[in-house]
Amino acid sequence: MVKAISLLGSTGSIGRQTLDVCREQGIRVAALTARTSIDLLERQAREFRPRLVAVNDLEPALELAGRLTGLDIEVAYGLDGLRRAASLPESDAVVTAVVGMAALLPTMAAVEAGKRVAFANKETLVCAGELVMETAKRYGAEIIPVDSEHSAIFQCLQGSRDRGEIKRLILTCSGGPFFGLRREEVAKKTRADALRHPNWTMGEKITIDCATLMNKGLEFIEAMRLFRVTPDQVDVVIHRQSIIHSMVEFRDGAVLAQMGTPDMRLPIRYALTYPYREKSELPALDLLRCPPLTFAPPDLEAFPCLRMAMDCARTGGTSCAVLNGANEAAVELFRQERISFGQIPDLVAEALDKIPGIHHPAMDEILEADQKARACVLEAAK
Ligand code: MG
Repeated sequence: MVKAISLLGSTGSIGRQTLDVCREQGIRVAALTARTSIDLLERQAREFRPRLVAVNDLEPALELAGRLTGLDIEVAYGLDGLRRAASLPESDAVVTAVVGMAALLPTMAAVEAGKRVAFANKETLVCAGELVMETAKRYGAEIIPVDSEHSAIFQCLQGSRDRGEIKRLILTCSGGPFFGLRREEVAKKTRADALRHPNWTMGEKITIDCATLMNKGLEFIEAMRLFRVTPDQVDVVIHRQSIIHSMVEFRDGAVLAQMGTPDMRLPIRYALTYPYREKSELPALDLLRCPPLTFAPPDLEAFPCLRMAMDCARTGGTSCAVLNGANEAAVELFRQERISFGQIPDLVAEALDKIPGIHHPAMDEILEADQKARACVLEAAK
């Protein structure tokens, strides 16, 4: 089991739940990072006494350093600070709970330091999955998914020694709050409607992605990268109850599923205790009381974000970074109520249409594609 971690993005939903697991399992927290929420970061630092805390900018770093005077906690800032937190010698694992592409460079630092990386950030794998996985191999870093679907697949694959045994990965999808609606109806939904997820409590960005089904699209690409399978080997099935977290179909016809009460602390705990399972307070899954488990195909007409992501999975190259960058920018505009819900897929489609793709991109080409996609969305939304 992991003894000490660096936690990138400690004040968000996954970050706070990771600290619950650290309290429960007695795991030391050697470094904490956050973007701007320094009040919570200060409370976390006082409780966990990490060696290092890092924030994005100088000003909050100075403020925080003042508040933590005398506690023997170093305060760093900027990309350099995040990278140091990600590669701290005493941490044997790094949890990447930062939202969006901002996680990419700090994550690479963790991978290059040969850490166990508990991956809670899907955007990084979507944009630069091939590079991340190759680099991990080179530096002996262990990549363990925290996303509930990918953790489920990872758990189902324990004991399978040969990737050739996998016939299909079946990603389950709750369908989000707008399941069953037609495209015109979905397009009119408001910010408050989109933030009402049926089964999971999460940050705003991912909750909106769940409503457009872009989240499942990103997870489709994430699954291909993590488990080295082709797009034809990944399927999405709507499963409203979120009891089955995903499945693997093997070539002999066996289908393994991982089930449980929806709670992100399970995949977080497993990523930190792997290959062991530790005790938890998670309420037991009561099969006799749970609703009937249902399955349905996703509606790619009503939810074009999922279809575009599946197309990008097949195209590869920088298209996945364009898809992700455009989506991040569009979701941010929607959060600020500057565009409608229906404009999110339209703006992503426009960016994919306008920005030419590059095959086998290097890191700087991925970052450039991301920037171009964001600029394209901001320009189109004016
Ligand atoms: Mg997920």
